[in-house]
Amino acid sequence: MTPLENANRTNEGVVVKGFVLSPVVEQCTGCDRIREFEGQQFCSSYPLPEKKWLSGRCNFATHVKVQSSSAAKVNPLKASKRAAKGGR
Ligand code: SF4
Repeated sequence: MTPLENANRTNEGVVVKGFVLSPVVEQCTGCDRIREFEGQQFCSSYPLPEKKWLSGRCNFATHVKVQSSSAAKVNPLKASKRAAKGGR
């Protein structure tokens, strides 16, 4: 596990560059941005991993693939229809 850089243990908790960090949450397991400090795991990109997952998937997560949306499937169809009409 990569160590957390510039981390300090203070009365407020683990602080990096003035930000107090909270440990990663269960959903973070497997993410490349996890760093270790004093036996705990933290996120290198976000101080509050728990909040990052409250409203859905963390947008920094490296281990969760974005599901291909229906829009992505529709676009090639539209393109081929346009091509069939001669570009109009
Ligand atoms: S980037 Fe997101 S998923 Fe990865 S460790 Fe940080 S908060 Fe967790």
